[in-house]
Amino acid sequence: MRDILPPESGRWRRFTDVFADVVERAGYGQLITPLLEDLGVFTRIGDATDVVTKEMYDFVDKGERHIALRPEMTASVCRAFAEHRPTTPWKVFYSGSNFRYEKPQRGRYRQFDQVGVEVLGADDPNLDVEVIALAWEFYRALGLRQVTLLVNSLGEPDDRARYVEALREHFVAAGDELSEQSRATLERNPLRVLDSKRDGDRTHIEAAPQIAEFHSDDAASHFAAVLAGLRALDIPFTIEPKLVRGLDYYRRTIFEFQGGTLDSAQNALGGGGRYDGLVEAIGGPATPGVGFALGVDRTLLACDDESVFAADPVVLDAFVVDVTGGLEAVALTAELRAAGFAVDRGYDNRSMKAQMKLANRSAARFALIIGDDELAAGTVVVKPMHGDGEQVAIARSDISSHLASHPPQN
Ligand code: AMP
Repeated sequence: MRDILPPESGRWRRFTDVFADVVERAGYGQLITPLLEDLGVFTRIGDATDVVTKEMYDFVDKGERHIALRPEMTASVCRAFAEHRPTTPWKVFYSGSNFRYEKPQRGRYRQFDQVGVEVLGADDPNLDVEVIALAWEFYRALGLRQVTLLVNSLGEPDDRARYVEALREHFVAAGDELSEQSRATLERNPLRVLDSKRDGDRTHIEAAPQIAEFHSDDAASHFAAVLAGLRALDIPFTIEPKLVRGLDYYRRTIFEFQGGTLDSAQNALGGGGRYDGLVEAIGGPATPGVGFALGVDRTLLACDDESVFAADPVVLDAFVVDVTGGLEAVALTAELRAAGFAVDRGYDNRSMKAQMKLANRSAARFALIIGDDELAAGTVVVKPMHGDGEQVAIARSDISSHLASHPPQN
């Protein structure tokens, strides 16, 4: 878990703002759910998912309830839907922290943030296209260029079940040639063996049956419609038949966005898909759903790598240096802030030299200097801190208009 300090924290806030801007324009409203849920909300995500079986921060609270810090947000959205029964299609977005007891490394943390959208109550393939297009537009808005979209369809639950059986048979036949880890994975969830990047597993994974052979007509035509929509929007994609994704609840469309600059183990910037049975599993009515979650931490690493969407410290308009020991700095700073300028000041009655050092370090555009002479004359010395402008003494009452008439140069 990490602390996010300024100015990086400002970038996090802007990140969420840009996301909200993109999705609100598509009719999504923000849903804020608790950080904690009843453990059962998450165990229903699937008991073959590491996120649920191994990585959850769960505990018994003082009221003897078994609860967990959320490891992801889709389950909470479905729980909220089941509880409030809003009219459909229900289009919501979220942002916030999730918790997984994973092995921390670059791009993988135990507390990490996600932004995402979910649409509940419609199974139109055009919605799959819409959510993918929103994520795509968001990456564009950040300035990211090296993002690859992978898509696949896991078929209907029956298709998926038949496929899982075929995979199981295929990998069981590989016997000891399969790595020990993959043999353990095979016991729990044959689909996840496809995620293995171990050398010995590769040939068996390449020879494995492909999901498309198991698609029912409905699943095939739903997937074809999704692909047609992506083509119509000129969104480039790669069909990746081995894409399975970590959470068990997906069916039909799944997708993932990969960052071109990140290490392959942590290169998933985000992903999502359809989860038509999840609301029902959580105790609500049968409701189709589709959505995605994008990792904030990891996407910002990709932004660093591509030198886009940089952290942007607040640029101060002025730094007030007051050596008169009275209330001048208090009043002037408050006045200018109220007029909309970004202003800081020196404290503790420090010397002119010490305060000027602070003014320099603050990178403010102007130092506003008040000494005894200025106090007596009702003026302030305005010293430009960048470029070669001359300092001038101006009437205190004119400071605001002086700052306004010298806007920042870009
Ligand atoms: P998931 O909820 O597992 O589908 O993950 C969606 C996205 O969240 C991933 O593509 C990552 O960008 C991000 N993510 C998931 N787990 C972590 C983690 N432990 N640390 C940082 N980001 C994560």
